[in-house]
Amino acid sequence: MCEVAVDHAGRGVASSDLLQRGQDRTHLEAFILETRPYWRALVCRDCDRDATGPLCRSHLTTTRGVDLGEEVRALRDRIDGIGRHLVRYARSFR
Ligand SMILES: [Zn+2]
Repeated sequence: MCEVAVDHAGRGVASSDLLQRGQDRTHLEAFILETRPYWRALVCRDCDRDATGPLCRSHLTTTRGVDLGEEVRALRDRIDGIGRHLVRYARSFR
């Protein structure tokens, strides 16, 4: 990098076009909406009252009356589901 004096260019090797596209939130917002059904079920129900997901670590340790065994079992089931999905996704490239 020093040999091509990138550090003196200020914007690195990114073109102005690439930097401009990086500031455009359109694609990110479309991605968020498109994938919402997948991540929405995992949002902590105490962080967002409309959510139904498992408690986040912070709420898991501070919320009273929580059945920790049930929460851990639910989290394990969800993580297992994510794992199965990732395996299926990885195998789809074969
Ligand atoms: Zn939370």
